[in-house]
Amino acid sequence: MRKRTIHLSPLVRTFAPYFALLKPVKGPFVGALVCGLIYGAASGLGFPLMAYKILPKIFGEGTPDKWMLIGAVALMPVAFLLRGLAGFGSNYLSSYCGIRVLIQLQTKVYAKLQSLPLSFFGKTHVGDLMARVLGDTGGVQGVVTGVSNDLIKQPIQFLSAIGALVYLAAQKKEFVFVLFALAIVPLCILPIRLAGRKILARALHVQNNAGNLSSALNENLSAAREVRAFNLQSRETTRFHSLIEIIARHSMKVVKYTSLLAPTLEWFATIGISVAIFYAAQAQLRLEDMLPLLTALYMTYDPIKKFGAIHNAIKRGEASVERIEFILHADDSIRDPEDPVPFDLSRTDIEMSGAVFSYTPGTPVLRQIDVSIPAGSVTALVGPSGAGKSTFVNLLPRFYDLDSGAVRIGGRELREYSKNDLRAHISIVSQDTMLFNDTILNNIRLGRLDATDQEVEAAARHAFAHDFITEFDDGYETLAGERGARLSGGQKQRIAIARAFLKNAPILIMDEATSSLDSESEEKIQLALSKLVQGRTVILIAHRFSTIRMADQIIVMENGVVRASGSHAELYTDDDLYRNLYDKQFIE
Ligand code: ATP
Repeated sequence: MRKRTIHLSPLVRTFAPYFALLKPVKGPFVGALVCGLIYGAASGLGFPLMAYKILPKIFGEGTPDKWMLIGAVALMPVAFLLRGLAGFGSNYLSSYCGIRVLIQLQTKVYAKLQSLPLSFFGKTHVGDLMARVLGDTGGVQGVVTGVSNDLIKQPIQFLSAIGALVYLAAQKKEFVFVLFALAIVPLCILPIRLAGRKILARALHVQNNAGNLSSALNENLSAAREVRAFNLQSRETTRFHSLIEIIARHSMKVVKYTSLLAPTLEWFATIGISVAIFYAAQAQLRLEDMLPLLTALYMTYDPIKKFGAIHNAIKRGEASVERIEFILHADDSIRDPEDPVPFDLSRTDIEMSGAVFSYTPGTPVLRQIDVSIPAGSVTALVGPSGAGKSTFVNLLPRFYDLDSGAVRIGGRELREYSKNDLRAHISIVSQDTMLFNDTILNNIRLGRLDATDQEVEAAARHAFAHDFITEFDDGYETLAGERGARLSGGQKQRIAIARAFLKNAPILIMDEATSSLDSESEEKIQLALSKLVQGRTVILIAHRFSTIRMADQIIVMENGVVRASGSHAELYTDDDLYRNLYDKQFIE
């Protein structure tokens, strides 16, 4: 549960953790604040007072002295230059700070995503997560930048302009009436708050729908083949179009409230200024007396208008914070122990006792599994689709934790090891080998990041991958293409086997590909696998008899329970399901 401090303003409460990201850029941030301060003071106090002092000298009675006139007129560009430089400094430095905050924030969210359990990704869409990492972090950065830029500049300008008005009123009692024109100021709070509230709800809609849009785009682009094969082009375009329409509708509502605010505030300001002009005319003030007053009044209203815009940005930022914190505060349910035991390489026997597991509470997919796998043996899992074979193997690297019961390696419960240590000792060769769009060399090196090129090549040779790799023009430097698109299924599997050779972990999990390969590929993969399994504790999800032959023990699963176990000969005689499966699928 997040701690909430009731007394803090919502701005501080919501954004405090993100302002803390400004720590590494303290210097530029302070610079931005100082520039903002100079800008605010120059605008609010400097301009009206300058007008008050200089205008009477220029337009007062009698002909002004030439040098005095030049000096007075020259003061304007100097003042504007100072204000301009301070304004530039404030914008530039606060944007710099904003970008540094964005980099840290995106890295923080990304790093958190790396550590979250697989169950988190089962509940969220990849595209939506992408929108949160790339889009919503920008919304928060906007607030940090905007606030450091404007939340100092504008209040300083406002307060100095009020100071100027008070000073002017103290100079001439005819000016006192102007202070009444300020009565409008509190009225401005109302539309600002109203617009802010409306914007928060709508901004959240826009951002959620941007996530949906990003998901749709991601799904569509990853399924380019299926879209064409099933002629889904127009269905997909319509789906995309309707999502954009929803975003456009909500965006227009945000635009409506954002755009209504500035004219409303301006209108209030005009009323104040008109009132001031009315009284000034009645008091028969001259124009040069009026100008400093009007300048000061304008400098009072201008920050209120800008504050309205900041308030809107903050509301939009709040919507983004909510979406980012969905990731940052997500619970890492697969926790590391406080005091992990080191993995003992001499004990790699695996035992599952009374294991119960469910993806969704109440519907267990593994029920009371009791299995014992001796170290250095090969165990094959067989069973119909949906029996729970993949779920079984996914428990070993702690991709998921059991509901009840225990999984032990070397007599220790999995939760006693650190996740990194545990996973460092398990190799996984899965059905669907994931390759990154990098060179083949680097793709194999994922098995062990510090492996030398020679070690990578040796692993590729063991996996019977060296020959096909060197047939490419660029050899090991060949790019694998997105998700390994440039390689065939059999080649990808051999890359996966090479990775496992390189990793050299004592426990090996293999999920054999169901898709059939050409006989040469198949033969090489079998040869590579029979070498790979030697000396390791292996669990394989087998679909072919040639693979099953390697097994010392076969476990038959059905509907989340172990139905039988033993050798091929025993099971073929005793177990109908196994015999059936074997006769149908495992044909030599
Ligand atoms: P196959 O041979 O088809 O791969 P399997 O024996 O490996 O099947 P599992 O993938 O372990 O079976 O699935 C067991 C049950 O768990 C199935 O009913 C499946 O629908 C369900 N299941 C699998 N993965 C998830 C998940 N991520 N979330 C929810 N349910 C899941």
